[in-house]
Order: sequence, then C-alpha cells, then structure tokens
Amino acid sequence: MSYQSNSKGELPHLKTSTAAPLQSRRSVSTSDRVAPDMGGAIPGQDGRRLKLSVRGLSKRYGDALALEATNLTVEEGEFLTLLGPSGSGKTTLLQMICGLVTPTSGQIIIDDIDHTKTPVHKRDIGLVFQHYALFPHLTVEENVAFPLQMRGISPRELRQKVQAALDMVQLGHLARRLPKELSGGQQQRVALARCFIYEPSIILMDEPLGALDKKLREHLQMEIRQLHQQTRATIIYVTHDQEEALALSDRICLMNQARIEQIGTPRDIYARPVSAFAADFIGTSNIFFGQVNSDQHSVRCNTLDAPILMPDHTFSNGDDVAVVVRPEQMQLNGDGANRLDGTVMDCVYAGSESRIIVKVGRDTQITVRTGLDTPSKGSRVTVSWDAAQSVVVCP
Ligand code: ADP
Ligand code: MG
Repeated sequence: MSYQSNSKGELPHLKTSTAAPLQSRRSVSTSDRVAPDMGGAIPGQDGRRLKLSVRGLSKRYGDALALEATNLTVEEGEFLTLLGPSGSGKTTLLQMICGLVTPTSGQIIIDDIDHTKTPVHKRDIGLVFQHYALFPHLTVEENVAFPLQMRGISPRELRQKVQAALDMVQLGHLARRLPKELSGGQQQRVALARCFIYEPSIILMDEPLGALDKKLREHLQMEIRQLHQQTRATIIYVTHDQEEALALSDRICLMNQARIEQIGTPRDIYARPVSAFAADFIGTSNIFFGQVNSDQHSVRCNTLDAPILMPDHTFSNGDDVAVVVRPEQMQLNGDGANRLDGTVMDCVYAGSESRIIVKVGRDTQITVRTGLDTPSKGSRVTVSWDAAQSVVVCP
C-alpha cells in the first residue's frame, strides 16, 4: 500500500483504503469451532470467558526443545505475563500464539475456534516488540492510522480514533513528527497506540520496554497498566523482569527451561512459590536447602548448626526440601521460634527501608528487611522467624 502526505500536509488516511478488512474471528467457519476448554489454569474465576486456550503446544528445533507440551488458558480482558530467564521459551510460545512460528504439536484456540493453522495476518492479534517497528517515512498519526486504514473505516471515524489513541498515550502534540524525531520512549508509545487503536482480539507484547532506561520503563509500565484498565484488552506480555511482571499482571506464568514452572496471581506466586526456582526468581528469598528430620517437623541443613522448624507436614523423613523465608518475614533480635545467630556483613540503604545481610552458620548469607534503624557492620545479631512464615518446597 503506497502512502504519502499531500501538499498541505494533511493526513492521506482520510482517503480510506479499499483493502479488504482483516478477516476477523467471526468470519471463520463454525465448523472450526472446538469444545470449550475445561482444563488449564483457573478458567473464569469471576465468570469471564476464555479468550485463548493453548493445548499441548510444543516446539522443537532439531534436537533442541524450545517449549515442552504446554497447556495455558487466558481469560478475556486478562493481563497475563510470561516471565522467565532468557532462553526459557517465552518468545517461542508468544510467536506460536500469533502465528510467526509453526508449532511442532498442539493447538491454539482463540474464542473457541482452532487457529493453529490460521496465517499470522488472519489471527486478529496485535503485536508490540522491543524494537519499535514503526514505518520510518510515516508521521506519528499516519503510523497510528495505518491498521485502521487497512480495515476501511470512514475518514471521520478514523480521525477521531487516531486523536483518541494519541491522547491516550499523550502524544497528540507530536502527531506530525516522523519516528526519527522522537525519543525511544515516544516511539514505543506510538507503537502502543497503533496496536490498541484497532482493538485486536489479543495483544501480544514481547519485552516492549526492554530497550528503555529504568525510569522511563517504570513510567511506561504505568501507562500500559492504564491502557489495559481503560480498554480491558486481553494482553499477553513477555518480560524477564520480575518487578515489571509483579507491577503489571493479573496473573504471571513463570517459565523455566522450556516449560511452565508456576501460574498464579503475583501475590500467590510471591507468597506460595512451588519451587526454589520460583521463590528465587520472584522477589528476594532466603532459601535453606536440607533434609527432613525423622520428627517430620524440622529440617537439617548442612550449612547450619541448628535444625529449622517447618510449617507443615507434607514432606516425609529424609525428603530433600528447600525452606523459603522472605526477608520481611525475618526479624533482627525478635522472638520467632526459628533462631540463627550471626554477624552483620552489610546494611544496604534502600530509601524507605534497609536490607541487612547477615552471615549465619557456615558461610550462609541471609537478607533481612528492616526499618531505617540499622545495626552496625560486624555486630552480632539473632535472626528469627516463625515456622508459619516460611514455605517448604522441592529443591
Ligand atoms: P526466551 O524468549 O524465553 O528468551 P526463546 O523462546 O527465544 O526464549 O528460546 C527458547 C529456546 O529455543 C532457546 O534455547 C533458543 O535458543 C531456542 N530457539 C529459539 N528460536 C530458535 C530458532 N529459530 N532455531 C533454533 N533454536 C531456537
Ligand atoms: Mg525472548
């Protein structure tokens, strides 16, 4: 499609395109409909319908498994984040959902219709990547108008929608600029506006803020959150940044080595990690590895002199376990039932709080969060916590 401004600098998009609108999910034959998904992760907690269901989806490149057979459901209007270290399969899963990568096995169901074999441009999915991918020769408003032009809406409606989308990302005043005349953050806002404007069935974002500095990233996180709250779009968002995932998501899908490690609300995963990996990846954790004692109430750790009391009895004598305690659950010189004597190695000032690093047992460092009153380096302290404030998981 050729696209140039006229001599008055007016938007060429006022001439609406004759291009056929993208095929929407409604235009797929009803014979493609599949039975509703009753499995997967927490469908319809508050009665919302399923937008996406991924069933047994896997990807293999030669001998390498990029994604094990995976089941995942996403509700309409949900903000789900795929979180995990580099190489854990996040992008592979996202690209199979949008059709850029062909699955080795499995199905992709969107709005109860099997789209596993639907080409990428017919899936009605909006994409935002780390690199802005704006059309360099089009102005901001022309870039934003582009997806709607492809759908052939009236000039008046087009103008209104472009205006509203630019206002939503606070770029109305820069509508006539070219992408190269914008900062990285502004360019990514244009990419967001261009994606949200045509209300795709699902929006997929792969590390969209990865190229921006921390301050701008936090600012844009809040904008993405507000865009989601305003539009209630269904969003699947990829990041390796756990703070970003905690701040944005309704649910987090934590990935590790080509499979899903845990799915849950940020609060659930933080409070009840299912593994040492999950505890370590999300938030700061003190993790004590050891074996369950014969009393089945305590754990012996090679690096500690005293056993650690466990909160529950779900593990048996001799089981290898990891006891997870968050820094804010520990007290310095408090009266919790678990008590470890140690030496203060460092006090890290973090504005509203401090993190104290204490060496206990045989070279084990633990982190305790406290207020601004901090002990001096080298002083002897007792770190304590109650068993009920810890979680025991498989190592
Ligand atoms: P993430 O997005 O979590 O960093 P990816 O989904 O990109 O991870 O990659 C998962 C695994 O699949 C990695 O080991 C990666 O090297 C491999 N992989 C991804 N794309 C290809 C490809 N086109 N060819 C071969 N291996 C690939
Ligand atoms: Mg990736």
